Amino acid sequence: MAKISINIKQGSLSKSEPVLGIDLGTTNSLVAWVPPGERDPQILESSEGRLTPSVLYFPENQAEPLVGKMAWDALESQPERCVRSVKRLLGKSAQDVQKHWGYRLVETSEEALVQVEVDGRYYDPIHLSSLILKELKRKAEGAFGQSVSKAVITVPAYFNDSQRQATRDAGKLAGLEVLRIVNEPTAASLAYGLNIGAESRTILVYDLGGGTFDVSILHLEDGVFEVLATHGDTALGGDDLDLRIAQWWMQQHSLEGIDNGIRLQHMAERAKMQLSQDADSPFSVAFNADVALELNYAKLCELAEPWMQTTWKSVDRALALSDLVETDIDEVVLVGGSTRFPEIARQLAKRFDHCRVNSEVNPDEVVALGAAIEADVLAGNRTDVLLLDVTPLSLGIETAGNLMDVIIPRNSKIPTRLAREYTTSVDGQVNLKIAVYQGERESVLHNRKLGEFVLSGIPAMPAGLPKIQISFAIDANGLLQVSAKELRSGMEQSIEVKPQYGLTDSEVEQRLLESMQHAQNDLEERMLIEAQNEAQQILYATERFLEKHAQHLSTEEIHITRQRCDELRGLLSQGDRNRLLASIEALNEVTKPFAERIMDIAVSEALKGKKL
Ligand code: AMP
Repeated sequence: MAKISINIKQGSLSKSEPVLGIDLGTTNSLVAWVPPGERDPQILESSEGRLTPSVLYFPENQAEPLVGKMAWDALESQPERCVRSVKRLLGKSAQDVQKHWGYRLVETSEEALVQVEVDGRYYDPIHLSSLILKELKRKAEGAFGQSVSKAVITVPAYFNDSQRQATRDAGKLAGLEVLRIVNEPTAASLAYGLNIGAESRTILVYDLGGGTFDVSILHLEDGVFEVLATHGDTALGGDDLDLRIAQWWMQQHSLEGIDNGIRLQHMAERAKMQLSQDADSPFSVAFNADVALELNYAKLCELAEPWMQTTWKSVDRALALSDLVETDIDEVVLVGGSTRFPEIARQLAKRFDHCRVNSEVNPDEVVALGAAIEADVLAGNRTDVLLLDVTPLSLGIETAGNLMDVIIPRNSKIPTRLAREYTTSVDGQVNLKIAVYQGERESVLHNRKLGEFVLSGIPAMPAGLPKIQISFAIDANGLLQVSAKELRSGMEQSIEVKPQYGLTDSEVEQRLLESMQHAQNDLEERMLIEAQNEAQQILYATERFLEKHAQHLSTEEIHITRQRCDELRGLLSQGDRNRLLASIEALNEVTKPFAERIMDIAVSEALKGKKL
């Protein structure tokens, strides 16, 4: 088995500063750490307990929101001032969450980062998540009596690049250097696996949280954690079951409105949790003077059935992706608060009846504990653990006809680097737009666009001749770097793919302001620069062409080409875009037939068996 070593950053860390392992959950968040000189991670406990509800409450006339237990309590009395399940919105555009229910989302353009409205103010999910992280950081600093600046944060394995970047940005905004983004099921198995010694085992991690679902299949051997496959849905979790219950109550009692919806969802969660703990005592609560909300365990199971079915399909896919069948699995591990709903363990035990379905690990805590172990590894305190992760979704570029051309297929081991060669489709093409997408659909229109850039300065050549190598590199955090190089000329360009929705409010505002102030000038200047670039490239390509192929041209042809080149060169520094374009066109007119002639010669030489 190929081992990919993880980059253990030692130099920049002071040994005494604890590195936090953070499980930034949809419903609850936790912090864990490994105390100095110890090996076992611990959950950080504050006066509120071990879990911090990932809920924000914006009290009237108070600038900073309250985060945690008090905010969770306020969900029932002041739902209009609360935001929950922010993680579901992270890295998403308005278009992604169009029909989402339970948030007051601001109507923005379809592609913009989604925003939540609370009491007339607008917040983006990165900002909201950073407020949760700030609270966790504050709690940790209170407990340790020292400042903390570094953390490992977990994300669902199925988070795409935008969602990972958004998590990283939220950490940054909270004043935390995010040393690594780790997949939740991997973190869970890290915490869990360390307790089972050197035995070789294949485990299936079923991770159903508040808003996300992942299933991962891992192979554990000698401290090496290899993820064989992962599947899931970043928009499926306990919240959906609450929503289903709330909608059923809404219909039953003809209730409507967003604030009623938020209250009902909150009560649905209480009902679900109560029935999960005691199936024999039906839930009943007064919603208002006229309406009593009721739910029993049988009805809960009926409402949950389609929700569970979706997760079984992901289990099938993960098994298929790793080329395994049920009996190859040595153990099923349950992770995430929603696995406390007993039907899940019951149905999994039925399907995996040859092995243990392990619900002994505390499903709420195991992810944070794993993150703390990885934090300890990255702090340089231990070297006996190795994580081999996979990328959950395919990555590729757009090619003609909106087609997705996959460069890194899903389930590839990370870190990884893969490249492919492309060429131009038009004669003399000097620029190539590279649009990067993530997803499994054939057409990019159905996949997520991560970003785009232009490779400029390709020497003008007949279509099909340039060799453009596009390389994708994913680092250990699952973040992508794309570069493009024209191999004949060595012209190169690269970007760290920043998601389109990753800008903060102030950045967006600032950019808008600047672009409005300078719009006209910027545009003119840019168009002039582009024309100058194009002229330089054409001059360069033409001169090289004359050097190499003069024997195929007549004296008259060479003369007129040189004349047009001189005219164009003379215009380069004059700042007159229109004259520049006209001169480029004039030169092109002369040289275009030459390129075709040379191609014909090259082809006929090749047909004669000669080398090109
Ligand atoms: P997590 O994202 O792992 O914190 O999981 C949170 C989800 O677990 C929420 O949807 C909770 O409603 C759900 N949850 C927590 N406790 C229980 C329980 N006892 N029974 C059913 N669901 C639960």
